[in-house]
Amino acid sequence: MTCYLMVPVDNTQAVELQSTMRMKILRDSLTGLPNRIGFSRLLDDVILLEKGTASVAVIAIDLIRFSRINESMGSVVGDELLVSVARRLTSVLRPGDRLGRIGGDQFGILLSLHHGTSDVWHAARRIKALMSTPFNLTNLKMKVNCAIGFSLMDDRIEVSEDLLRDAQIALKRAKETDHVEVYNVGEASVLQKRFSLETDLRRAIDNGDLHLVYQPILSPYNKKIVSFEALARWNHETLGPVSPAEFIPVAEESGLIVPLGRWALESSVHTQQQWDKQAGYTLRIRISVNVSALQLMRDNLTQVMTDIKKQTGINGDRLTLELTESALMRYPEQSISVINTMHELGIKISMDDFGTGYSSLSYLKTFPIDHLKIDRSFVTNLAEDKTAIAITRAITSMASTLSIKTIVEGIETPEQKKIIMDLGCDYAQGFYFSRPLPVDEAIAFYMASNRN
Ligand code: C2E
Ligand code: CA
Ligand code: CA
Repeated sequence: MTCYLMVPVDNTQAVELQSTMRMKILRDSLTGLPNRIGFSRLLDDVILLEKGTASVAVIAIDLIRFSRINESMGSVVGDELLVSVARRLTSVLRPGDRLGRIGGDQFGILLSLHHGTSDVWHAARRIKALMSTPFNLTNLKMKVNCAIGFSLMDDRIEVSEDLLRDAQIALKRAKETDHVEVYNVGEASVLQKRFSLETDLRRAIDNGDLHLVYQPILSPYNKKIVSFEALARWNHETLGPVSPAEFIPVAEESGLIVPLGRWALESSVHTQQQWDKQAGYTLRIRISVNVSALQLMRDNLTQVMTDIKKQTGINGDRLTLELTESALMRYPEQSISVINTMHELGIKISMDDFGTGYSSLSYLKTFPIDHLKIDRSFVTNLAEDKTAIAITRAITSMASTLSIKTIVEGIETPEQKKIIMDLGCDYAQGFYFSRPLPVDEAIAFYMASNRN
């Protein structure tokens, strides 16, 4: 049964009630400013009038660490601060500009441009300067930092949400760079693509849809294989094969590299067991697994490796971890401690992509690494470039003094192979010897190469 409550109102009362309701929906009760819906409405009106012109910008302002202030000092202080910020921001507005509170700790300014984009940069600088003066609240003085991003109206813009979203994309970047940032055309679709790739990658990891291929690392002198590098592959159900150069950065940025890295470790150990079973005896071969900086920091590698060892009975001497030069340099103390515990388990460590980061030879002494992988970029020019040869020679000789073995990546031609042999590099990897191979082909290649 439906009951209707009839409230007798005359016409004027009804109009007043409606307008109060509308005010409530469109305004933020704390600051009295237009809220997100109200601000969007203002934008929609302007877009309708100014469509196709470059006469409007939207600035998005975020109060850095506002939630911490709210949590530690209470919402009364937080509210007072928001009101003071709103008041200050109002003071930068020129006639025709509009301010709104577009999120808990975010404000938006709709700016009319009289002198093109220089107006926005000018306003952003004024806002930064204004915010740098501490706020005098009832019981305390407080400084707040803000991030600023903005977007410009152009003929792509159909609805207010586009302009606001663009400003917030720029704002997100501003939080990372600590500079005022402007939205770049096309950024939203790149982000959308990245986001959907991230969603698909998450599902692929959960469903076990990734697989590893194995590229031999061998002695260029006798062609004997000492190790295989495990490289992740993803065959997307609609996009087809997605290159690691595309999905690894997405995994790094989203944190998915941690479960992906664990999977790569477990999967490599599983492959070792499969190979041993096929051979009928325990092979003397390592698999080199890539470990990202985030994994090094976030995952408890010692625990992961101890668990894997306990569950599978596989020895640490079947694994090498490849840590990039930049990861080691970024977290030196953490890296050294992880390297030491890995060594206790018999696991070896390679410094990957050497020469692409800080490239300081003296740093090599700091890290107790076993191998150094000289980056492919050196090899590309080896046949023509005397400097590349000189650098490779210096790296090899320094490594040899420190009892570190060198592996040269990306050997594609017999000339490159000859040069690295003349330079005395220990091991090589590259398409000249073999491309990364599926599990079964890799073991067949190994059996053929290491027969005696
Ligand atoms: P990386 O660790 O430097 O791996 C070597 C890359 O060089 C591989 O590319 C390999 O296929 C390629 N390569 C090997 N020899 C040659 C050659 O002679 N010429 C050329 N042009 N390329 C060669 P891939 O498989 O596309 O992997 C790219 C990167 O993705 C890897 O670079 C690594 O940083 C990352 N990656 C791949 N799998 C994983 C993983 O399981 N975990 C993590 N953290 N990163 C991974
Ligand atoms: Ca590697
Ligand atoms: Ca590498």
